[in-house]
Amino acid sequence: MDNLICKTCGRELPADQFHFSKGRPWRCKECFNQYQRDYFKKHPQKTKEYNDKYRERRLRYYADHKEQRDAHNKEYKENHPDYWKEWHIKNREHRSAYQKEYRRKRKQQANSI
Ligand SMILES: [Zn+2]
Repeated sequence: MDNLICKTCGRELPADQFHFSKGRPWRCKECFNQYQRDYFKKHPQKTKEYNDKYRERRLRYYADHKEQRDAHNKEYKENHPDYWKEWHIKNREHRSAYQKEYRRKRKQQANSI
């Protein structure tokens, strides 16, 4: 891929170093970060509004999809009624195997002294 030239700093950089806006290379990532920092500094109120809006949107998304999530969880539990039971059994087996091994090692150590 051809290198692109950043209109802000004039450097020639590969495309993956660029920030794209509407499918077009806009400026290099470094300049973009700088631009954002400057923008936030110049428009603290706007930044706050943007953050608030974003948070609100995220919360709304969360609320909108709550039912879907709950339904999914419910479905999973219904399809795996023994999930916790199985987990418990597996865990117990695992632990008793570990303890057996531990005791065996202790014994060996005691014998070797
Ligand atoms: Zn640049």
